[in-house]
Amino acid sequence: MYFCYISRMHNYCKKRRKLSVLITSIIIVLIVFISSVIRYDQEKDELLKFQDGRLQQMFTSSVQVKTAENKSSRYQSNLRSIKNSISNISPNRVDLTGANLSHIFISVKTTSQNHQRRLQLLLNTWIMYAKTQTYIFTDNFDNSLDESFPGHLINTNCSNDHNRRSLICKMGYEFDHFILSGHRWWCHVDDDTYVNVVELVKLLGTYKHTEDWYLGRPSLDHPIEVIDHLHRGQKLAFWFATGGAGFCISRALALKMVPYAGGGRLQRAGDQIRLPDDCTLGYIINSVLHRELTVIDRFHSHLEPLGRISPPDIRSQITFSYNRRKNRINIVNVPGFSEDIDPTRFWSIHCHLYPLSNECLSHPDR
Ligand code: UDP
Ligand code: MN
Repeated sequence: MYFCYISRMHNYCKKRRKLSVLITSIIIVLIVFISSVIRYDQEKDELLKFQDGRLQQMFTSSVQVKTAENKSSRYQSNLRSIKNSISNISPNRVDLTGANLSHIFISVKTTSQNHQRRLQLLLNTWIMYAKTQTYIFTDNFDNSLDESFPGHLINTNCSNDHNRRSLICKMGYEFDHFILSGHRWWCHVDDDTYVNVVELVKLLGTYKHTEDWYLGRPSLDHPIEVIDHLHRGQKLAFWFATGGAGFCISRALALKMVPYAGGGRLQRAGDQIRLPDDCTLGYIINSVLHRELTVIDRFHSHLEPLGRISPPDIRSQITFSYNRRKNRINIVNVPGFSEDIDPTRFWSIHCHLYPLSNECLSHPDR
């Protein structure tokens, strides 16, 4: 360099100077680019936080209206407890290397008559692996359930029946609580669903919560067609993920759904199509917001032949269900406990996935 300094006009030196100028400019451009990407990410996070802040306000007011018809103090105390437990997230027992369970809000829809019959089984198996993230939405207070799963039992006070409006009422609460939770993903399941928590976390790890995602499995192979009861003579056609198989919605999409599904508004959309809760969400996402359903065929409801799922497939599936009504038995093909002991096959699935867990090693029927 010193040599170049004293003989500036030399050709070799000219080339070296040009090269060093070029390298310096490339480095500057790279630094500017990287810092702008970092700033963009921070701004996006800020924007989501800002939107959430506005939603918190919006929900406080809409929830207040709703609580008038739904025993306000209990609902408010549920909201307080959900917020407290969310700020208290603790590491889970399952090793979920590289993925983050704490980003997911799992809502389980149930009804008081199923607390013992169905829910207890879920609490003893998969919910143990997602305790902090899982909330139970039911229609009546249950002291013993509240004591065994404190802060995670949401009594919606919705009617205790299988009626379309009652189911939509509950789904509306699930949606509102997810929005208030601030989590990145909302996954809904019924109380006859087993969730393979590890696979669920892996699946969501492959999508961005800042993008619009509606993940689930339809029970029909075509869009459902209905009459639009708000606009006479018009028909609607849309895809929906069947609730019995479970589905997940990203926060970005859920925020867009708030004007149609938040603060009790889901009921109005349901009245427009006169279909149950899962169809109503599909209507809002697919027909109103024009977002697609991404089909995940590893979600399973009892509307499909579950016997086709056999041991080699079990570990990679995300949800399972069962049906034993009216002698029409539809269960997963899994070895393990006898059908007398384990009619739903959920214990057998659980111990197939976690053979060395305490609850499987110490199971009395092992
Ligand atoms: N359910 C409810 N209230 C009722 C009956 C059922 O909230 O009166 C819930 C139930 O807990 C389950 C979902 O609705 O999570 C679907 O019910 P079920 O599995 O009995 O019927 P399906 O619709 O799957 O045939
Ligand atoms: Mn069911």
